[in-house]
Amino acid sequence: MSKKTILVAGGGGFIGGHLVASLRNEGHQIRCVDVKPTEQWYQVFGDTENVVANLKDRQVCQAACAGVDDVYNLAADMGGMGFISNNKALCMLSVLINTHLLQAAVDCRVSRFFYSSSACVYNGDKQVDEDAVPLKEEDAYPAMPEDGYGWEKLFSERMCRHFREDYGLYTRVARFHNVYGPSGTWEGGREKAPAALCRKVINAVETGESEIEIWGDGRQTRSFMYVDDVVTGICKIMDSDILEPINLGSDELITINGLADMIEEIAGTKLGRTHNLSAPKGVNGRNSDNSLIQQHLGWAPSIKLRDGMQKTYDWIRSEYLKKQTV
Ligand code: NAD
Repeated sequence: MSKKTILVAGGGGFIGGHLVASLRNEGHQIRCVDVKPTEQWYQVFGDTENVVANLKDRQVCQAACAGVDDVYNLAADMGGMGFISNNKALCMLSVLINTHLLQAAVDCRVSRFFYSSSACVYNGDKQVDEDAVPLKEEDAYPAMPEDGYGWEKLFSERMCRHFREDYGLYTRVARFHNVYGPSGTWEGGREKAPAALCRKVINAVETGESEIEIWGDGRQTRSFMYVDDVVTGICKIMDSDILEPINLGSDELITINGLADMIEEIAGTKLGRTHNLSAPKGVNGRNSDNSLIQQHLGWAPSIKLRDGMQKTYDWIRSEYLKKQTV
């Protein structure tokens, strides 16, 4: 395989960090750009070029794309339901990152461009049942995505399509369904359900509290994809001939209550629950239909939730305990 120079936008983040780890293991030369100071990056490597800069700025994107073969855009302002429902304008401003990166990629004659979209693009009317019918790619239209964050993703997907059609830029787009795993956000307000529930259970065990709070009635359903699967999928989709946005998600459906049961079992505890019915909980049910990815790649995410949650729980517990000792 030829060695490339690769830009990972958002390389200091959760998925970006894991992608960088994998690409550098293959011997590629990596440039990571992230707006956060490097002390806050989840993974930092000594043999990658690590740049702290704001990719909403066109000139920053131009410099980031200079001399690069491939671009992976994982940079966005995002978080769990609590964050995206209270920061719609901020989430929509991520459009500046993808727009300027696409323009810079054309200017710099980048060979390939990957964009990380989301299952939040799907029409809300198709996600009202907890008994979620898996979402097919066509279910994004007619458009009624998650307000703010989902609209930005849907718009940016189409920017990728039109940059491909009008400027001949090689673009690939995956719609990630909830991703979880170690070396990601687990506190501070941007964390998603798997990490938040791990933290709550760990905190209850360590402090002797007998209850945890669950957002909503806990009967809402989701599928969760382990981070190793998303990294594998990103690389396969980038190498593929799949021109339109495609699902990249697990189809192992679970209720939030079921996820809490699983984490309690991992922790070896059983806790009481209060249900906060006024907290943002998102759609009632969401699952990934993996027919198309199976058809194109003969592959789909397959890491079992129980296996991935054990690794995630162990990592969050070690981070939690580290914080107690400082
Ligand atoms: P993350 O928040 O851990 O990573 C995103 C990174 O982008 C952060 O490190 C952040 O500092 C950086 N960033 C934000 N604004 C920037 C800017 N202006 N300039 C440079 N860097 C900037 O999130 P993640 O979970 O790793 O998500 C990566 C991508 O995948 C995002 O596009 C996200 O929308 C998408 N996605 C994630 C999930 C999931 O479950 N984690 C689901 C669907 C889609």
